[in-house]
Amino acid sequence: MIPVQGFEGKYVAVLGLGRSGLSAARALQAGGAIPVCWDDSPVARAAADAEDLAIRDLAKPGAFEDIATLLVSPGIPHLYPVPNPVVAAAWGAGVPVDNDIGLFFRSFGLGDWDQYETVPRVVAVTGSNGKSTTSALIHHILTQAGRSSQLAGNIGRGVLDIDPPGEGGVVVLELSSYQTDLARSLTPDVAVFTNLSPDHLDRHAGLGGYFAAKRRLFAEGGPERAVIGVDEAEGQYLANQMAEAAVDDRVIRISSGQKLSGPGWNVFARKGFLTEWRKGRQVAAIDLRGIRGLPGAHNHQNACAAYAACRTLGLAPKQIDAAFQSFEGLPHRSQIVAEANGVTFVNDSKATNVDSAAKALLAFERIRWICGGLQKDGGLGALAPGLPHVQRAYVIGREAAGFALGLTGTEAEVCTTMEVAVARAIEDAQPGEVVLLAPAAASFDQYDNFEQRGTDFTDRVRAALSDGK
Ligand code: ADP
Repeated sequence: MIPVQGFEGKYVAVLGLGRSGLSAARALQAGGAIPVCWDDSPVARAAADAEDLAIRDLAKPGAFEDIATLLVSPGIPHLYPVPNPVVAAAWGAGVPVDNDIGLFFRSFGLGDWDQYETVPRVVAVTGSNGKSTTSALIHHILTQAGRSSQLAGNIGRGVLDIDPPGEGGVVVLELSSYQTDLARSLTPDVAVFTNLSPDHLDRHAGLGGYFAAKRRLFAEGGPERAVIGVDEAEGQYLANQMAEAAVDDRVIRISSGQKLSGPGWNVFARKGFLTEWRKGRQVAAIDLRGIRGLPGAHNHQNACAAYAACRTLGLAPKQIDAAFQSFEGLPHRSQIVAEANGVTFVNDSKATNVDSAAKALLAFERIRWICGGLQKDGGLGALAPGLPHVQRAYVIGREAAGFALGLTGTEAEVCTTMEVAVARAIEDAQPGEVVLLAPAAASFDQYDNFEQRGTDFTDRVRAALSDGK
């Protein structure tokens, strides 16, 4: 645990008692502060009460009189579409609002570091898609290379739950836009921006607000090195803002698909090969084509980002290449869950938006595609580049019929349930094809979360295959 510094003897309000809220409350206590907790859910309050944490209804008038700071969980809207009333009350009382990520950066560098030869470093990863994969890949590479690494934030452990890092330790943080939007302190040593496509627009009042939230990681923190995906205009803009000159190698530009020929530090993947260029010269190249844990151009983008981050930490291209080979990928992201009769079954349930689903469709040649669910704003138009790979779509979800109508030019069958979709896809699949779950939609119409949806797919595939259907 990282005990929170700077609030000794003070009351700190904690709104939202999920994983991050509870761990923040414990870390506050460990640092000598007095957490005062609230959650609208009685079940969540009971969990905090069971740990002897003080409970206070923060929506009551006067609740903020003795409070030094309010911490808000990422799931609670702090500004858009409308501010949570407790957040608004803190504003009214002049109480600063922060989150566990802000407390982490405040408290992280205050250990016995003056005794260390190599101080610990933080790598923070943000972007619309590929954050988890890139963070996990960086952690995997560091671990394989014998470096001490901890994975935290949106993936792995709560950020305040990690062990205080020892000599030369690295903390790899995955940070969502909700987290970077609110944190009052954001000072990673290496900041990574994978890509940008529309998502969570309601929480950021549109694409501009969403990008602004992600940009804070760079603008507020002034990282020593910035690894920036430049495949969208926003990334190009950000890289340009961070660099003092064309050769400034505090910025590493990355791309999947484009050859980056600038004179600075560039890492890009084309036709399955990752190449590093620095000051106009090629430094290294890695063949990504046979790596099972990183299929498709989108994962090659993640490989470039992870490669660049690890290079800034002093790893050699050979060490990174070796670790790529043993990366197994993450559950529910381009995950191969079965192979039978020449057909491969891939669970990409995490493709909850059209952009990530389009990338999945581009990663495989001939696809039996299971898609559908709760559609997000923006329509299905962005799927178009991937649709030629689809032999047939098997549409699930409560709105399956409407979703199927949106897939113009693609044969689509309304299956509604995963059970029917898996059975139908297996019946139709030919050797060499991929049965792919990449819904392009949220799961909440039929499941608690995308993990449950991916597990349902996997279980049904495995059951059907073992029945010999
Ligand atoms: P995040 O943590 O940003 O949501 P994940 O690594 O969990 O990212 O991947 C989310 C979804 O996006 C998955 O469906 C995955 O296959 C897809 N994906 C992964 N990397 C990328 C990328 N670089 N660009 C687009 N889609 C990606």
